[in-house]
Amino acid sequence: MTKTRDNNMLYNRVGNSGLKLPAISLGMWHNFGKDDDLSKQLDLLTTAFDLGITHFDLADNYGGGFAEVNIGGFLKNEFKTHRDELIISSKAGHQMWDGPYGDWGSRKHLIAGIDQSLKRLQLDYVDIFYHHRPDPETPAEETARALTDIIRQGKALYIGISNYYGAPSRNMIQLLKQEGVPCLINQLPFNMFDQNAADSGEFHGLEKDGLGCITFSPLAQGLLSGRYLNGIPEGSRAATDGTCLESERITPELLKKVGALNAIAEERRQSLAQMALCWNLDFSPVASVLIGASRPEQIKENVQALENPSFTNEEMQQITDALNA
Ligand code: NDP
Repeated sequence: MTKTRDNNMLYNRVGNSGLKLPAISLGMWHNFGKDDDLSKQLDLLTTAFDLGITHFDLADNYGGGFAEVNIGGFLKNEFKTHRDELIISSKAGHQMWDGPYGDWGSRKHLIAGIDQSLKRLQLDYVDIFYHHRPDPETPAEETARALTDIIRQGKALYIGISNYYGAPSRNMIQLLKQEGVPCLINQLPFNMFDQNAADSGEFHGLEKDGLGCITFSPLAQGLLSGRYLNGIPEGSRAATDGTCLESERITPELLKKVGALNAIAEERRQSLAQMALCWNLDFSPVASVLIGASRPEQIKENVQALENPSFTNEEMQQITDALNA
């Protein structure tokens, strides 16, 4: 990475906490697995960091554990003098190993999960540790106690929740508060095609509780960009990954909306990806949008979004009309 970073990044406070996150963060769900070229992975990370992206988001199950292994190697070597400039997050709660303790939210799963993640990452602590999804069976008190113990053991600095909405969200936030460890953040899917985090009232609830939000898949995995306007390109997520972004989703109706959104973005002298990220950041309490990238150029383009972040009321209406057409 270059020594003099060209850093025009915005850093937003997360809820009522002392922590600021970059307006754009980078996630390792895709492109950081066992079969992904390590030099390409490093290129993505250094491009991001040089642009001021100080937050890398992981989970135990990304790349079947290999994302943590790979990032751990980079943190130990190329990034070894930069640990204190970085916010590294990980998560547990999805299926990771066989048997009854390999997933969800029991104390057994979460304590084993953080220990395994730290080993793969070769770190003493992560900055944010998330419960990846609510567990309908484990008492929330048990999950909250395990998460706070992880903080007290020095294995994480902050606790987050992910994919929590409504009553389970309010309850977990309250339980963590009672345990003396305020919850920092909720990580939720949110983009122009999936506005549930706003519509369900979860954004409002988080604001009232003093939490921030980091939104994932802000580009709807690439649909909210020019990537699919002229068919499904070779090497794209829809071409290579049949499970997360099914090519059947790319219908003529969807492409019509994407085309209309693209025209609005052009009027703003932005790419559609850039407009989609700014649109996302316009919602409170969103502190950061969590992007993925398969190429460094995508990261560069996405960070440039911050040069024109605000919308007129007319533009917002045009976007709503394009989505509802
Ligand atoms: P995005 O919606 O940002 O999709 C990323 C993909 O969009 C890229 O891989 C690339 O696809 C394409 N893309 C990115 N920038 C551009 C651009 N400028 N122009 C054209 N195409 C572009 O986010 P993800 O779905 O990847 O999710 C981001 C992160 O969120 C994850 O890595 C993870 O950290 C987190 N996450 C959390 C979840 C949770 O349950 N907590 C669930 C899912 C994600 P292509 O490969 O085709 O080039």
